[in-house]
Amino acid sequence: MANPFQEIRNKQQFYFENTLRKTSIFERKQKLKQVKKWIKANESLIIKALYDDFKKSPEEVRIAEIKPVISEINDALKNLRDWAAPERVKTPFYLLGSTSHIISQPKGLNLIIAPWNFPFNLTIAPMVSAIAAGNCAVLKPSELTTNCEQVIVRMIAELFPPEEITVITGGVEETTQLLELKWDHIFFTGSPPVGKTVMKAASNHLTPVTLELGGKNPIIVDKTANLKDTAQKLIWGKLINNGQSCVSPNYVLVHTKIKAKLIVELEKAFTNMYGETKEEIESNNALTRVVNKRHFKRITALIDNSIKQGANVIIGNDTNSENNYISPTILDNITTNSAIFKDEIFGPVLPLMEFQSIDEALSIINKEEAPLALYIFSSSKKNTKNIIKNTSAGTTAINETTIQFIQGNLPFGGNGHSGIGRSHGKYGFNAFSNERAILKQRRGFTTIKLIYPPTNKFKRFIVRFMTWRM
Ligand code: NAD
Repeated sequence: MANPFQEIRNKQQFYFENTLRKTSIFERKQKLKQVKKWIKANESLIIKALYDDFKKSPEEVRIAEIKPVISEINDALKNLRDWAAPERVKTPFYLLGSTSHIISQPKGLNLIIAPWNFPFNLTIAPMVSAIAAGNCAVLKPSELTTNCEQVIVRMIAELFPPEEITVITGGVEETTQLLELKWDHIFFTGSPPVGKTVMKAASNHLTPVTLELGGKNPIIVDKTANLKDTAQKLIWGKLINNGQSCVSPNYVLVHTKIKAKLIVELEKAFTNMYGETKEEIESNNALTRVVNKRHFKRITALIDNSIKQGANVIIGNDTNSENNYISPTILDNITTNSAIFKDEIFGPVLPLMEFQSIDEALSIINKEEAPLALYIFSSSKKNTKNIIKNTSAGTTAINETTIQFIQGNLPFGGNGHSGIGRSHGKYGFNAFSNERAILKQRRGFTTIKLIYPPTNKFKRFIVRFMTWRM
């Protein structure tokens, strides 16, 4: 049976070769301005869609869905000329007479597959990088957040001809069909297991991939940490999007000596931010809901199983299955063989484990896959340096969580199991560009002609000279 998306892919290829390749930086910027204008004019539509999807608060939508996209656009509008400018490189002495430079060319046809947790941001921000780099794109938003999906369909239909950018809706079946086709680049944001499926499909055509994946993000709180500050930042970072974030703190390793004090501060910080009584907390508008019943069941099972394995509930563990509500929950005494430690939680649960020495904490972290984010709470420069030097991660924040994602001047991405490639700003532009190396030789005499065969004594001397002190 013919692939239902073959035709649109072919139309995009024709459009790319015959129209997009010829467009200027000015034209790309004009498109980005149109995207920005549309988002600003339709802000209330986006806010409503995300509230209808999973009760995401308007404040969170503004700060974590709309603002990062607008920042990406502003960054590109300001810097695109620099990013796209040819880069001259030095000429080694044995190539004297030639000149070399690197140009950034659009990759061409891009498949952008997005998850549900920040469904607007994580579909549109990569599209901004794709446009900045001069590409076509097919967007595949998540099927779980249907209201947001429909806003994206409308936005793209109003802004672009389908042969330039289009949206394909659907789930596993449609994504599988899209992945069968030959793309010039696949930009996937989602879970590591689906990331593997994407990479396998890409290997059939040797298509380059950018994989923005997830994983478990450990936090180390050492003896020297400021506990009040640490607790406030942990609670806020954990509960953005109700813990349904790829950079959400996953488990806290806290030094034995300060664990009791940290727990007191966590309770205080939580009450101050989200309320005291069960009713107050459940009705707090800042708490997004778990996205669907499947994830509700998955998270409650993680909590129940860790309690069976000996974990204590410090805060929370109240649920309402009618609206997928799980109250923010802090668990103590979890073990490294529990599923809550092994799996990405992706929900409002913060488990604690204690350690006696930094080496012990490092060994717990290093037995697992490299995280997307690793967080350090410490006042000791020595400990911080030691932890960074002896671990791997895509990103790290010191005395903070989560906000490295919105620092647009930093590259964002994982390390192996947590991701391949980088996004945001110039790094996003690079992900959608092919760095083409250009060497321009002079005509007539060249240094390389000095060693053309047949060889003789003089030519052997030249080769020895060129390779002297290699
Ligand atoms: P997911 O991997 O289940 O789905 C992502 C996309 O892939 C969706 O569009 C979905 O339709 C599609 N998909 C799902 N199963 C598929 C299959 N078998 N074959 C082909 N396509 C399939 O991820 P999710 O549940 O939407 O999002 C949560 C995950 O995404 C978490 O692991 C989280 O850490 C990760 N994430 C990473 C980042 C990042 O920037 N690194 C950002 C957000 C989320």
